[in-house]
Amino acid sequence: MPQQSPLDVPEGDPFGPHNLPYGVFSTAGESRRRIGVRIGGHVLDAGAAAAALGSPYAGLLGQPSLNPLLAAGRTAWRDVRRALTAWVTDPGHRPAVEPHLLSLDAVELHLPYEVADYVDFYASEHHATNVGKIFRPDGDALTPNWKHLPIGYHGRSGTIVVSGTDVVRPSGQRKAPSDPAPVFGPSVKLDIEAEVGFVVGAPSELGRPVALGEFEDHVFGLFLLNDWSARDVQAWEYVPLGPFLGKSFATSVSAWVTPLEALDAARVAPPARDFPLLPYLDDAGSDRPGGFDLHLTVSINGQEVSRPPFASMYWTAAQQLAHMTVNGASLRTGDVYGSGTVSGPDVDQRGSLLELTWNGRDAIELADGKRTFLEDGDTVTLTAWAPGPDGTRVGLGEVTGRITASR
Ligand code: MN
Repeated sequence: MPQQSPLDVPEGDPFGPHNLPYGVFSTAGESRRRIGVRIGGHVLDAGAAAAALGSPYAGLLGQPSLNPLLAAGRTAWRDVRRALTAWVTDPGHRPAVEPHLLSLDAVELHLPYEVADYVDFYASEHHATNVGKIFRPDGDALTPNWKHLPIGYHGRSGTIVVSGTDVVRPSGQRKAPSDPAPVFGPSVKLDIEAEVGFVVGAPSELGRPVALGEFEDHVFGLFLLNDWSARDVQAWEYVPLGPFLGKSFATSVSAWVTPLEALDAARVAPPARDFPLLPYLDDAGSDRPGGFDLHLTVSINGQEVSRPPFASMYWTAAQQLAHMTVNGASLRTGDVYGSGTVSGPDVDQRGSLLELTWNGRDAIELADGKRTFLEDGDTVTLTAWAPGPDGTRVGLGEVTGRITASR
């Protein structure tokens, strides 16, 4: 019987040849960073395979970061993906490709791109409604602008960390409405936000807005993102300029970027709009549905606590990109933007502990005790899958992080 090849990925594996997410890895024996493509339980050293095959993409793939590939643009993204697909599926390529496969267990994964700017949005109507009810119980849950524009803020790109990086509990000022004065100390309401992140490949010109229909010319792919949030710090500091130190201490992203092309079968229409949007945001006539049918899970210490549905997001990633650039702000290769917390209509679809516990009022039960917010030592993991071609599933690389005590 012939020896099983790592390229014989079992049917139903969400990381089969229909997926092929990109990452950057090193090994214990070689600290040099290299671009890897995940196939089943293995990582293909893409640059080495390209060189062995005499591929014209050996230069783009033989890099320590995805940035040159991101900057190369949509035609190159398509052509490289086509080549990679052939390398992992065509039996004739196996002798050249197989020597460049490493077990996932044998590699260390790194932040796969150099992050340029970072923006985070607020695009789930269910999340925004829940947060509005919690933070502003006497007002309208949604602010008057919410259904007219995708609300966002500029975050801190330098503290975006790859999955697996520990997160130190932040300290800061907090003051509950009933407290006489603010106090300083480690956050007692450390939370998560289950989100989907997007990374920009092709830059844009300063002064020229990027239209809705140009989304796929600029955005390379998506990944899971955890927008860690200190709710007590946030609640005291956010009026009137929005999130600041309550979120800037860390944002975790998956080590794997899924190219948009792998998610063609996951495109879905966003929820119905209540009224026509301004033309630059109006996607009603678009020939390509703007949503993605991603099924997220949130786990704490291995126990699933929520299943947020990304298909329920009110604002699409294309609308967010159009809004982010409508004033002429330009895009840079490596710009990252987060969707905003993904929360569905049901209680067990909420993407934050703020909502799951209603700001600490209703503790959730874990095997190791009750939780309102995160405790030191807790590990939070986000996973997701999307429908792929021919009934397959496309897995997104997980994003995980463990809370360590404040310093
Ligand atoms: Mn967020």
